Amino acid sequence: MATKINHWIDGKPYERAAERYGDVDNPATGDVQAQVAFATPAVVDEAVESAARAAQTWRSVSIARRTKILFAFRELVDKHQKEIARLLTLEHGKVTADALGEVNRGLEVIEFACGIADLAKGEYSENVSTEVDSYSIRQPLGVVAGITPFNFPAMVPMWMYPIAIACGNTFVLKPSERDPSAAMFCAQLLADAGLPAGVFNVVHGDKVAVDRLLEHPKVAAISFVGSTPIAKYIYETGTHHGKRVQALGGAKNHMIVLPDADMELAADAAVSAGYGSAGERCMAISVIVAVGAAADRLVPLLRERIAKLRVGDGLEPGSEMGPLITRPHRDKVAMYVDKGVSEGATLLADGRTLSVAGRAGGFFLGPCLFDNVKPHMEIYKDEIFGPVLSMTRAATYDEAIRLVNTNPYANGVALFTNDGGAARKFQHEVEVGMVGINVPIPVPMAYYSFGGWKASLFGDLHIYGRDGVHFYTRAKAVTVRWPDPRHRGVDLGFPQNK
Ligand code: NAD
Repeated sequence: MATKINHWIDGKPYERAAERYGDVDNPATGDVQAQVAFATPAVVDEAVESAARAAQTWRSVSIARRTKILFAFRELVDKHQKEIARLLTLEHGKVTADALGEVNRGLEVIEFACGIADLAKGEYSENVSTEVDSYSIRQPLGVVAGITPFNFPAMVPMWMYPIAIACGNTFVLKPSERDPSAAMFCAQLLADAGLPAGVFNVVHGDKVAVDRLLEHPKVAAISFVGSTPIAKYIYETGTHHGKRVQALGGAKNHMIVLPDADMELAADAAVSAGYGSAGERCMAISVIVAVGAAADRLVPLLRERIAKLRVGDGLEPGSEMGPLITRPHRDKVAMYVDKGVSEGATLLADGRTLSVAGRAGGFFLGPCLFDNVKPHMEIYKDEIFGPVLSMTRAATYDEAIRLVNTNPYANGVALFTNDGGAARKFQHEVEVGMVGINVPIPVPMAYYSFGGWKASLFGDLHIYGRDGVHFYTRAKAVTVRWPDPRHRGVDLGFPQNK
């Protein structure tokens, strides 16, 4: 019988059996390895109530104590990173090295949150008027919720809850129902680190659970990461219910290669960023825009590298690329490859027939490469979210930038060149939230903020970094007079600067 995964409410695993469960597959074998509880609105209410109770005291716990717990949590995540990575590989399918990389990028945000004493400082002005001082403080919002996607089950929640908790909020996480175990493992580590019950809760489930969080009057803010249609829905519904919302959406990331670029470097980068994690990264490169002579020089270099990629079970030491998350998703990505062929693009590498020895039931798809992809084709327009790299040819650099700037998505973008002037023009003109120059996946460090523009983000503030601290706090401005007792007296007029 498959293991049952339940919620985490009030500092412990939830005991009551669920009315509904969802299957959690092992994508490398195709076997159902666990069943995850799907929360009803009543269970979500229990989690929010637990968080609301904890918020009454957690907001007044000293910064020193909150930081101490975060430091302890940091140590525990570091110590257990191999176990967390193994859970990621078993449920998501990504290879071990990639899974460890994910945990490490999450750790960086925990480390950032450990600096909350400095990050959440207010400002102070003395004598704004005679004997009047003014200062600002940043206070927590209360209960905040995070709703996260399947592709980074450990890291994306860590973009949210360490900072939210450090700021004095309590948290309800609704992780992806496809790979829920990393969230449960981290909930236990937070408890072991000394976090009081109710400060961090996990509810599993689908739209039913999410909708209750969106409308619950005690949830003050929602952080969401996922696909664009759901991000838009979350933003519109959450704000309609008076909540602060940041909703990060999907992507179609371009990598422009100019003819003067180091082509070996560009080819390495395109293959790593296109097929890493089987293309299931919101910062994956999905379109190479080769300018002029760059295209013909890149093609053999890309093919040579793709031919050597080792696809297999992520737990096998030699594997470089694992399976896709589910059978339907694998089939959908393969269908896009069929479509690209019928739309007239040139298929240079075809991963549709790949089989992995001993893993016949796995959701594998080999790397696919298209050349001569045109902007009107669906394989160009849609976010495919799989190991499919498209190359589009542009006659000029301006045409390449125009292509990027007219795309509705604007999460990440990269330019490969050796020309400093071209790089500067790019940084200045490109309308995308995260920009790489000779860096294919420009994910900002924890002390900058992560977020796209246009259809890749709904809301005003990016996630983690300073924006994260601002998202999870609200500013209060205080004006104080401690008058000299000798100056007492009634004054009905407006205070004047004397
Ligand atoms: P998804 O949008 O299907 O699901 C994200 C979350 O929303 C999950 O927790 C899911 O249970 C919930 N959800 C799904 N359908 C819902 C509905 N109808 N109503 C309410 N909630 C719903 O995304 P996914 O397939 O898990 O993840 C892949 C997507 O996430 C890709 O589009 C990828 O680009 C995007 N992503 C974006 C970023 C970013 O930072 N911009 C990062 C990672 C992933």
